Amino acid sequence: MKRIFWIVFLFSFFGTEPLWALLKTYFSPTFFPLDVYYLQGELPGPTVMVQGGIQGDEPSGVVCAQILTLAKVKKGNLIIVPRANWPSLLLYKRQINVDLNRRFDKDYHQYYEDTLAKAISYLSSISDGLIHLHEGSGFYSPTYINIERNPRRYGRLL
Ligand SMILES: [Zn+2]
Repeated sequence: MKRIFWIVFLFSFFGTEPLWALLKTYFSPTFFPLDVYYLQGELPGPTVMVQGGIQGDEPSGVVCAQILTLAKVKKGNLIIVPRANWPSLLLYKRQINVDLNRRFDKDYHQYYEDTLAKAISYLSSISDGLIHLHEGSGFYSPTYINIERNPRRYGRLL
């Protein structure tokens, strides 16, 4: 059921035009399209990039970034990439070939994730700041209960 909800959510944004943003889709003839929303503020200012969905098993960032595409910016600009790794999001898997979040340290040329890493690197290079949305793993607990519930985990507090 969770997976069905997730797939419906992912596809719910196709065909809808953003209110204030310019939407560009890069790599659209491939299986890894990259939607990028450009939001220009009413007044000039710094540009901040917000990215979600770099790892397919972390949906919170996708939801947060997608909602942010509906914002009207007063000052500065936003570059929003809600679904950085579409194939891994579709499968609700952290990665397909390699972890995209680990492909920024060198100039790799092996997998589609490397192409995405270059595009994301470029977008972050034209931004003044980057907000990279992830999810914590496990569950926070003030006392050690087990490996998934302890003070060193940063996931949801239950
Ligand atoms: Zn992550």
